[in-house]
Amino acid sequence: MINENEIYNGLSSLEASKRLKKYGLNILKENKKISPVKIFISQFNDFIIWVLIAATIISGFMGEKADAVTIIIIVIMNAVMGFIQEYRTEKSLEALKKMSSQTTKVIRDDNIQVINAEGLVPGDLIVFESGDKIPADAIIIQSSNISIDESILTGESLGVSKDSSNRNNSIYMGTVVLRGKGEARVVETGMHTEMGKIANLLQNIEQEKSPLKEKLATLGKILVFLCIFICIIVTALGIIRGQDKYEMFLLGVSLAVAAIPEGLPAIVTVALALGVSRMLKRNALVRKLPAVETLGCTSVICSDKTGTLTKNMMTVKSIYYNNRLYNDKNFKDSRLNMIKKTFTFCNDFEVNYREKNIDKCFIGDPTETALIKAFFSNGNEVKEFLKTGERISDVPFDSNRKMMSVVVNEHGNKTSYVKGAPERVLERCKYIYINGEKKILTAEYKNKVQSALSDMSSAALRCIAAAYKDTGLVNGNQEKNLVFLGFAGMIDPPRKEVKASVLKCNEAGINVVMITGDHKNTAFAIGKELGIAKDWKEVITGDELDKLDDDKLLSKINGIKIFARVTPEHKLRIVGTFKRKNKIVAMTGDGVNDAPAVKNADIGISMGLSGTDVTKEASAMILLDDNFTTIVAAVEEGRVIYNNIRKFIRYLLSCNLGEVLTMFLSSLLYLDTPLLPIQILLVNLATDGLPAIALGVDPKDEDVMDEMPRDKDESIFARGLKEKILIRGSLIGICTVLSFLVGGVLNMPLRTCRTLALGTLIMSQLIHVFECRSEKHSIFQIKFLSNMYLVCAVAISVAMLVSVIYIPFLRGVFHTDPLNLFQWIIVLFFSCFIAGINSIYLYLNKK
Ligand code: ATP
Repeated sequence: MINENEIYNGLSSLEASKRLKKYGLNILKENKKISPVKIFISQFNDFIIWVLIAATIISGFMGEKADAVTIIIIVIMNAVMGFIQEYRTEKSLEALKKMSSQTTKVIRDDNIQVINAEGLVPGDLIVFESGDKIPADAIIIQSSNISIDESILTGESLGVSKDSSNRNNSIYMGTVVLRGKGEARVVETGMHTEMGKIANLLQNIEQEKSPLKEKLATLGKILVFLCIFICIIVTALGIIRGQDKYEMFLLGVSLAVAAIPEGLPAIVTVALALGVSRMLKRNALVRKLPAVETLGCTSVICSDKTGTLTKNMMTVKSIYYNNRLYNDKNFKDSRLNMIKKTFTFCNDFEVNYREKNIDKCFIGDPTETALIKAFFSNGNEVKEFLKTGERISDVPFDSNRKMMSVVVNEHGNKTSYVKGAPERVLERCKYIYINGEKKILTAEYKNKVQSALSDMSSAALRCIAAAYKDTGLVNGNQEKNLVFLGFAGMIDPPRKEVKASVLKCNEAGINVVMITGDHKNTAFAIGKELGIAKDWKEVITGDELDKLDDDKLLSKINGIKIFARVTPEHKLRIVGTFKRKNKIVAMTGDGVNDAPAVKNADIGISMGLSGTDVTKEASAMILLDDNFTTIVAAVEEGRVIYNNIRKFIRYLLSCNLGEVLTMFLSSLLYLDTPLLPIQILLVNLATDGLPAIALGVDPKDEDVMDEMPRDKDESIFARGLKEKILIRGSLIGICTVLSFLVGGVLNMPLRTCRTLALGTLIMSQLIHVFECRSEKHSIFQIKFLSNMYLVCAVAISVAMLVSVIYIPFLRGVFHTDPLNLFQWIIVLFFSCFIAGINSIYLYLNKK
């Protein structure tokens, strides 16, 4: 199938696009496509709805034809509303999946490019390294020390060594590179891959459960029983009083439909999903929906330094060599030749030869490309330089070792070149290169190096040391007894916006902690500038951490703001200790070794730009811009979403309580039924649908980040919400019954009294929806127009009410009477009365 000539060169873009047409996208097809029809039908999949439909049909046969048709229309409209909510959720979840799709490095047109893995075709030459997920089935053609985790296919969790030999050269889509790097030729894509063959297994990945949704589902069940109980009483009392049985049965069922908050868990999903798309706009891609809930509780953010707090735009500022500092004007000085060789050979950069811009033509880790840019002005210069030697083996950089080494054959001489964190390199050096000669690294020399290192790192420079060994035999000793050359110091400026975000976190009771592999001095200098740490006492290194036992660390951890020179294993320990302190920890990670800590954190965060696939997969959230500020924005959104969920729970439950109580109180008082079944359904349609959804997208309260983080196990009804619902719901019920009674006292006909009750019940809920926008501020203090969705939703509901009162045809259907000004005053008095008292109470309370 594949022409053998193209094996080592990759494809041209033209050929790739031809093949893409022939072979199709490199994706696994999904069985589970959302079917809109299915979603719509599922809206009727509810026992109570069926009872209502049955009752309606019966009443239709008994003569109430107009009622029956209207009730069916209302039921369908409710289903449409539910359908819109659910379809939107499915769509946004699908979009999410697309966003988190994989990218891959491929060589096309003789150039290395980063493309979306979907675009891979058989024949493509892919480049991979540790942490990458293999994007298609492929044959290795070049390898270095490769170990692959194939557990997704075989269940075997130990890494499998692979190389380019015939028997061992196949790698498969979905497996993960644990170690090493290489190039491979794609042989199969999409559904033709091994993974494609078992794709069905993947379809059934369980959806993450949302704790809040589950809690609400349980609450919902309790409420269902309570509502049904009350509905039965209302129906029974009506029948005892001698009212029409069918009429009373229909009333009970309609009340149940209106009062049971069956949509509550669904609205939570909608609120979470809408939140996810808002977060996406702020560059935070949430992979697991429940993470949105937890985000709002975050009490500690553990952030990497490089790239997250800083820009990851490295520039070498000075080089220490031969007890002297060289600045960027004299990096081309021939005396620096050995350092230049080390930093160039011991480096995994790639070159895009077509790119003329020096900042873009070198591709790779910013630390490494910065070193290349210090010595070379374009790709061809480096190409010429690299011809002087051939790399014959390497040990890649690893954030545990904080070092990298290569052995290079230079015209028969094998030299080992090493670069890495200065302390790590120094401890492997026996000699030092002084004035072109190899000398013993005495304590005196060491002190000089260390004092220079201390100066440079205190100036916030990130330091990388260089060393070599001339008999670099590949025998395990190539990193021992090295000759120390010197080190380079590079700046990586802090991101401008981070300081304000750190301050915001402090005000929001969130502890910001820096966890970095970098030197203590560098870390402290940056941390101080960003307001993370003030005092040296707040800094600890990985070595010091190792000396603390778990209990000591537990007692100290709250005072530590910077963890420097740590390894990924330390990160895991730090997460664990914070969790023992009952903190909710958000932890960032990028490298493959960070995955366990990221997985273990309450909110694992990975880097969209620089992160490895493994870490992304372990994370709950991906920062598309790698920026710390995005974490804070996401936490803020998390709080806003939780508050919004509280808002509509408050609204829905107090309104439903008001509706049930209206009917319950009046039957206890042996009054006529204040609302007919069709009117109850209208109330439900006008108040429960659009206004509740609009509350779910309420803009944030300005002071959302002024409060302490909430407790993760806090009940959704905590902080007075339960009382608010009970009191306000009761008042809505009482006032509706009162307005119905006033009509009676003033000798109005029953139909007018019912219209008064209908008006009062709907208007008081529509006023209450605005109260629900804030738990602290009164209705007079909120900005009315800041949620235009709500204003429109309320306007539509008012229009519905006015239409059923004044349009003669609808008046017939809904059994209403037109209200005059005086009657409207009664309605508005009872609807506003409670809101007024509530606002005065909040106002006085605040004063
Ligand atoms: P953070 O954890 O905040 O991202 P970091 O990027 O400094 O911090 P590491 O990548 O683990 O953490 O780097 C630790 C140290 O290893 C650096 O201070 C540097 O001295 C050295 N180092 C970094 N990158 C390389 C590399 N490519 N080759 C050799 N040494 C490196």
